[in-house]
Amino acid sequence: MVKGIRLADKQEQKVSVRSECLVSGRIVVLSDSDGQDHELVSMLESAGYRVEALTQFEAFKSICDRGTAPAAVILDRKFKKGESPPARILADMQAQCQNSVPIICLSAQQDVVARLAAYRAGVTRYLSKPVERARLLRIIAESALQPPEQPYRVMLIDDESEQQTQHAQMLRMAGMEVSVVNDPLQVTERLDKFAADVLVLGMEMELCTGPELGGILRDDPQYAAIPIVYLSTESELLLQIQAINSSSENFLSKLVSPSHMIGVISKHARGYRRGLEKAEILRSARYELERQQQALDAHAIVSVADLSGNIIYVNEKFCEVSGYSSAELIGKNHRIIKSGQHPDEFYTEMWHTIAGGNIWHGEVCNRSKNGNLYWVDTSIVPFIDAEGLPYHYISIRTDITHVKANEIAMVKAKEAAEAASRAKSEFLASMSHELRTPLNAILGFSQLFSMDEQLPQSTRDNSRQIEGAGRHLLSLVNDMIDLARIESNQLDLSLEEVKVKGVVCDSLNMVQSMAHDRGVKIIIMQCEVMEITVWADFNRLRQALINLLTNAIKYNKANGTVHLVCEIIEDSARIAVTDSGVGIPADKRERIFHAFDRLGEERGEVEGTGIGLVITKRIVEAMGGTIAFESTEGQGSTFWMELPLATFHERSGLPAASSSATGASFHSEHAHADRPVVLYIEDNPMNLRLMQQVFSSRQDWELRTATTAESGLEMVRANPPELILMDINLPGMDGYQALSQIRAEPGAAHIPVIALTANAMKGDRDRGLDAGFADYLTKPLDILKLLGVLDNILN
Ligand code: ADP
Repeated sequence: MVKGIRLADKQEQKVSVRSECLVSGRIVVLSDSDGQDHELVSMLESAGYRVEALTQFEAFKSICDRGTAPAAVILDRKFKKGESPPARILADMQAQCQNSVPIICLSAQQDVVARLAAYRAGVTRYLSKPVERARLLRIIAESALQPPEQPYRVMLIDDESEQQTQHAQMLRMAGMEVSVVNDPLQVTERLDKFAADVLVLGMEMELCTGPELGGILRDDPQYAAIPIVYLSTESELLLQIQAINSSSENFLSKLVSPSHMIGVISKHARGYRRGLEKAEILRSARYELERQQQALDAHAIVSVADLSGNIIYVNEKFCEVSGYSSAELIGKNHRIIKSGQHPDEFYTEMWHTIAGGNIWHGEVCNRSKNGNLYWVDTSIVPFIDAEGLPYHYISIRTDITHVKANEIAMVKAKEAAEAASRAKSEFLASMSHELRTPLNAILGFSQLFSMDEQLPQSTRDNSRQIEGAGRHLLSLVNDMIDLARIESNQLDLSLEEVKVKGVVCDSLNMVQSMAHDRGVKIIIMQCEVMEITVWADFNRLRQALINLLTNAIKYNKANGTVHLVCEIIEDSARIAVTDSGVGIPADKRERIFHAFDRLGEERGEVEGTGIGLVITKRIVEAMGGTIAFESTEGQGSTFWMELPLATFHERSGLPAASSSATGASFHSEHAHADRPVVLYIEDNPMNLRLMQQVFSSRQDWELRTATTAESGLEMVRANPPELILMDINLPGMDGYQALSQIRAEPGAAHIPVIALTANAMKGDRDRGLDAGFADYLTKPLDILKLLGVLDNILN
């Protein structure tokens, strides 16, 4: 609706611009003394007027002194309540200008008293502010009696006479075009050639009377709107009125004064032109509306419904998409296309919105005649009546079925990806468990054999080989699981302030024996910088550094060196490892961080998997750092990592070494007559045998075993042990459930329970400690570490 008005306005502007061109002359604007009305002045100037701006009424006295009177005077100033324009000054001015100047008053004061006072003072028009530009210009043009751009066309129809000739001449002198017709029966023919703005008809013609001809013309839509003015010698008022009532606009006596005749004819001609303009505005507005409707129909699915939702209009697209013909839809309720895919509240909210006169917008799923669902992006706009209540609803929709299909496919794909990722984590967890359990037995027994002095030396050497191979296998398994975890973005890091020195010391400890075995010397430079802290995950940073050090040792020459340098580069700490090894050929350097690419080393003697550097790079980057290298073939390589600095630490001294250094001794001197009892709950016979072997070397402790949590609990109740070692994955009740049962037993609640499990995924340990386990040891067991923990608790 609003659009319609705007459209008409636009049209009006177009038309007014045309009529503006014909106005010209001087306009006097009287505005408030505190400032001129710039907007009004520039608007008038842009319409072609010369504007003279005044601020004092007194100045009016002289506005007609300069030759011609102005085209109009505009009073644009505030009057106090009850005040009106000074009538005397206006009257003086009009007297000077021979009463020819229209005075237009613009005012915000709307009351009748103010208007009346203004009219009494001599104002021609009194317009309420704000006034639209087009309206003001039109009123000025009309009031100033500006001659039209195209002269008015008048057709004089009467029997030939002297008077008719005089009238024609008079009208021509007033600037009008005149066509004289003496045969009234020729009028329509003549009108086809001469588009008259006014018809002046004689009343008493020989062939037909004026009202007869007027009636005929009124019946023809082509001429019905042309104003008719009768010209007659008839002086009886009643007859004049009758004639006006039947078919004409006005009635003039043949003895009319020229000015009156010109005034009346001009007025009707102007009215007719204005009517034509309005019709043109309407026609062109209608045309634009039709074009818009066409565009809408070409693009959208459109329907109109009444207040109950009954369809009263559908466009072709609606029929096309819904599969119904318009005959099948008109008169039916919109429910005909309801899909049943939305809850009732959805429609309640929609109706609530539109019934309240508001626009509803949303995505709706509909059902077509053949049962298929389709999605539409919909706007429903209520048409509001004069009381502000909706009387129709127009719905405009765009088919978005394909967009929805993509959305649904994307959600499904995301769900599938999440499921795959979950499956991968589960696989990783179980792989980790399954591989570690047998390795536990291999490493455990080989450690026991190599420690057993009663066995022949060769057997102990062999079992050391088994242990070494087992450890290698374990590190491979760990690497593979790590890589898989990194690839699936499951690398959890606990970032904190980490002292470089701690990481360096720990890592050196780990590689020292390897370096020793290969005769490689590790030289540490710029130790003072090691006091700094970086923002990292301690274990992961250590893993990365160990990887670099291991490579520097592995790919070194016999009796080579490894230099370790720590330094600060801007906001980062750089830890660089330089070896004196074989170096990396230039053509292979770009492959260095590719998984499983050993750059030809797979044919060499050095053991490896080709994934250490990939893992290192990913770890360092995940911690916000970078890794890089340079190498000279035959001379060696430098690999470095840079990590963001945390804060500087002034304190010196090495941090505690790795937690595995417990100082426990395998052969305990202590012996108790009353031996502490340790209960081991474990279902895997191999692990039970391993533990029995471990305990056989510690006669001061007694080991009891149970293969299920249930039987273990019975043993705890019957005879509470000093310590419980608990496997987690037990048949039936699991380790966690068993722990909470123990905690609930008054006689056993205090017994420390250590988890001993192959569940070594990130978070498992925290979860175990949170649940109340005194410690959480992972398989494959580090026997020395286990003994250390047992020593701590039992002795
Ligand atoms: P791996 O050592 O298990 O083979 P890495 O991912 O650690 O796997 O290294 C990939 C390859 O990069 C190695 O196989 C080796 O060819 C090369 N490489 C790594 N570090 C060095 C080094 N310091 N000197 C020479 N070559 C190296």
